[in-house]
Amino acid sequence: MNAFSMALSEDQQSVRDWLHGFARDVIRPAAAEWDEREETPWPIIQEAAKVGIYSLDFYAQQYFDPSGLGIPIAMEELFWGDAGIGLSIVGTTLAAVAVLANGTEEQVGTWVPQMFGTPDDVKVAAFCSSEPDAGSDVSALRTRAVYDEATDEWVINGTKTWATNGGIANVHVVVATVDPALGARGQASFVVPPGTKGLAQGQKFKKHGIRASHTAEVVLDGVRLPGHCLLGGKEKLDERLARARERAAGGGSSSRGKNAAMATFEASRPAVGAQAIGIARAAYEVALDYAKTRVQFGRPIIDNQGVAFTLADMRTRIDAARLLVWRASWMAANQQPFTAAEGSMSKLYAGETAKWVTAQAMQLLGGNGFTREYPVERMHRDSAIYTIFEGTSEIQRLVIARSISGIPIR
Ligand SMILES: Cc1cc2nc3c(=O)[nH]c(=O)nc-3n(C[C@H](O)[C@H](O)[C@H](O)COP(=O)(O)OP(=O)(O)OC[C@H]3O[C@@H](n4cnc5c(N)ncnc54)[C@H](O)[C@@H]3O)c2cc1C
Repeated sequence: MNAFSMALSEDQQSVRDWLHGFARDVIRPAAAEWDEREETPWPIIQEAAKVGIYSLDFYAQQYFDPSGLGIPIAMEELFWGDAGIGLSIVGTTLAAVAVLANGTEEQVGTWVPQMFGTPDDVKVAAFCSSEPDAGSDVSALRTRAVYDEATDEWVINGTKTWATNGGIANVHVVVATVDPALGARGQASFVVPPGTKGLAQGQKFKKHGIRASHTAEVVLDGVRLPGHCLLGGKEKLDERLARARERAAGGGSSSRGKNAAMATFEASRPAVGAQAIGIARAAYEVALDYAKTRVQFGRPIIDNQGVAFTLADMRTRIDAARLLVWRASWMAANQQPFTAAEGSMSKLYAGETAKWVTAQAMQLLGGNGFTREYPVERMHRDSAIYTIFEGTSEIQRLVIARSISGIPIR
């Protein structure tokens, strides 16, 4: 086990500084434009691919950093640059993590590179779990996967919603139910290869924040997938389903417990928390500078305790959130079980912190904070998603409450 340490190695510091430079020089200057355009910033993703930031190698290096801090450090810096562009750059990793968490080595080797493409021909990937009637309640998925033994194919029908990169992705990972009677335990994840017939983008959503990130419905109409597109393989699925049926027959709960979608979310929650910290830190820095230079009543506004104390609280919450994220990331990387839902804790606190800090920043900038002349109103809009996606704040509290009490609180 790696001892927990907050002293970053030279390597970690240089990666952080390199990402910070990219966020400052490439992402930030483009942030307002892509927010207004509400389109995927392909040239910026391509730029990130050219320097090696948008690549399987880069994420694998950060993912396998034994301290666990590689991913949170990277996320914080990129999202410090801009959250909408940041999500366009890292959205692919949610699908990649789904393959890493549920797939075989061969599936990882086949599909993950196709998710990123090459620097000359960049691609993105999408992870499609949420549905119109199954958001927080992931056990309620209706998208159905039926096995056709004659052709060794899976036939998938259903509608996914809120998919980041949905419809524009080269590779989609779709969570579907193979045995609805088993609830969450009857689900499996499938890779939908590029160009598969029957998959189409539905409505593209116009959003409040992270507007450079593409979010859309994905419609699956008679999609036929070769057997090898089932993540983990059929044998493993059959064994898992048999165990779940046995448990259900014995009166055990069929809908609760670890499932394909939850495995993906668990692994990604601290990383999502780190994104929120990046936004919060960016807004805090703007507010601190502004408070030192804006003069009212003959003195900088920071000379007022009311303003200075707000900044003190902003910084304290940001640092506390980072500590929770780093703890959870270290635990996950060092196989320490989450006994008090530490991953959910980190995402809950970081998401709420980003929303609160960015709101304070807007207030501290007065009228300027309310305009698009300054970035804090965009940061505030962007922060709002962090109490909603990857499990709302209420769902995180539910997970934590169940974990610390052992009681199936509803
Ligand atoms: C921009 C964006 C990008 C997204 N990207 C993806 C993606 O890439 N892939 C994907 O699969 N999904 C994605 N999502 C979906 C996201 O994860 C869901 O929106 C989220 O899980 C909430 O589901 P819902 O919107 O259906 O809300 P609901 O589940 O309907 O919740 C509505 C409200 O009820 C509350 N609530 C629900 N149940 C309980 C309970 N038991 N106790 C207390 N309160 C409760 C919620 O906290 C919330 O406040 C994305 C969403 C957005 C907006």
